[in-house]
Amino acid sequence: MDDRMFKAAMGKFATGVTVITTEVDGQVHGMTANAFMSVSIDPKLILISVADKAKMHDLIKQSGKFAVSILAEHQQEMSMVFAGQIKDREIAFARFENLPVIEDSLVTIACDVHDTHPAGDHTLFVGAVQNLHLQEDEPLAIYEGKYKDLQDKVTSEV
Ligand code: FAD
Repeated sequence: MDDRMFKAAMGKFATGVTVITTEVDGQVHGMTANAFMSVSIDPKLILISVADKAKMHDLIKQSGKFAVSILAEHQQEMSMVFAGQIKDREIAFARFENLPVIEDSLVTIACDVHDTHPAGDHTLFVGAVQNLHLQEDEPLAIYEGKYKDLQDKVTSEV
């Protein structure tokens, strides 16, 4: 199995899009990520997977905390900025629980690092949720490497 086939298969899993943020010595850093999941309710834990070569990897290790901003449909530009696809954009971050977050996101989650697990060329950071904030909006979604509108076609409740 080659890398392309693996990536194509993983791209068939439709996800939302987040921006992970942290701060070290007053310097804010953000990174787009869709490898995000809920892990546990008691205690409340979430998980992100960060490439070892990403700057974010060492910064989370240093700060011991991070925030997750789940992006709304109108925030595709934020996803592109923090994936390095739009360069040199000045961003005004909001603050939540003393962490930088992306303003107007669907959900913001403030976490302390609970645990880390090396996994191949990535590290899994388990975050203990300190607090979260929700607002009503439509989500930004990604499928097969493309941003998608989620049409409001509810077939049944989960
Ligand atoms: P950089 O590449 O240096 O930073 C990322 C970009 O954010 C740069 O353009 C930088 O200028 C900008 N930026 C950072 N901080 C600021 C700031 N304070 N103000 C303004 N701009 C700033 N990678 C993973 O490891 N895990 C994933 O789950 C994952 N999912 C992804 C999902 C999508 C949809 C996309 C498009 C990419 C994903 N990536 C993921 C790839 C990851 O977003 C990029 O490789 C990213 O460039 C890695 O960031 P970095 O920490 O190395 O920092």
